[in-house]
Amino acid sequence: MDKSKKKKYAIKVKDLYKIYMIGTNKVRALNGVDFAIEKGTFCCIVGTSGSGKSTLLNMMAGLEPPTKGEIIIAGEHMERKNEAQLVNFRQAHVGFIFQSYNLLPNMTAIENIALPLTFQGMDKAKRIKKAKKALKMVGLQEFGNHRPGQMSGGQQQRVGIARALVVNPEIIFADEPTGNLDSNTTLDVLKLIKKIVAENKQTVVMVTHDNNLASYGDMIIHIKDGKITEIEQNRQVNEDLDNVELGGTLDIPSEMSDEAALSAQPAEPQPVSAEQDTASDQESSKGQQVLGNVTVPSYEGYHPGTSGNDPGSA
Ligand code: ADP
Ligand code: MG
Repeated sequence: MDKSKKKKYAIKVKDLYKIYMIGTNKVRALNGVDFAIEKGTFCCIVGTSGSGKSTLLNMMAGLEPPTKGEIIIAGEHMERKNEAQLVNFRQAHVGFIFQSYNLLPNMTAIENIALPLTFQGMDKAKRIKKAKKALKMVGLQEFGNHRPGQMSGGQQQRVGIARALVVNPEIIFADEPTGNLDSNTTLDVLKLIKKIVAENKQTVVMVTHDNNLASYGDMIIHIKDGKITEIEQNRQVNEDLDNVELGGTLDIPSEMSDEAALSAQPAEPQPVSAEQDTASDQESSKGQQVLGNVTVPSYEGYHPGTSGNDPGSA
């Protein structure tokens, strides 16, 4: 195989199981899960309550050991590390964003953001400098001296995001990060996470029960009863939509409003079967592609729903 064409994966999960014993009952929280996430992906894991999302996220982050299977992050096997090694690994490679923000109430925004750097043994002047930079990234430079109780939920979660970003992690894990926010703030926070990690080429794994939010992902992993039911690759669609929003290169036909083009995706990403793939190829030769239920002109480099999850090829 041509090595130069190898995909770079941030995370690989192989044949993963987590079985909890409740008395004599076995709860299969994860029941044989396989996938790989390419570097720089905004990956959403979506499923109803109890489907195994948090279990999966916690296992990837090395917060809980699997019953069976492998988790490879940044080339290292999580399941082979002891507790101390996991702590070191997380500090060096991973950031977390929590649903309930998990900010310390008696610390200011700057102090909360600087906290992970304390664990790295960084001196104070440098910590403050980095924390201020992260605060600016999330647009809260005026709020550095505010305590969590003096900020709105959305602002607190921005501080939570800045705290995750301050160590410049390769991977950010987020478990229902917008679960406590109203719908407008939810979209702001989601777009903010997406924008920052795209700029820094970081990988995000976000868990949500909300299909609509998950549709913002470049990759969407559907999970049910501890098993993956579907993986959607949505990246190109998202990038193209970003171009539309910025008045980029996509040529919208005059009879179609910008609004219609935007609403076409990514709200309902379409599962792609082999047949559909062929169909859309044929479509593109005619210069048109079907996006959701709206037809837009095709252009170079656009391949809706390319399904390319191949853990074996890394
Ligand atoms: P989700 O995050 O999708 O809501 P979870 O991963 O929290 O789902 O849970 C998946 C399943 O595993 C559920 O049936 C839940 O009750 C069970 N479970 C999760 N954590 C534990 C635990 N510590 N002990 C026993 N069962 C658990
Ligand atoms: Mg959960």
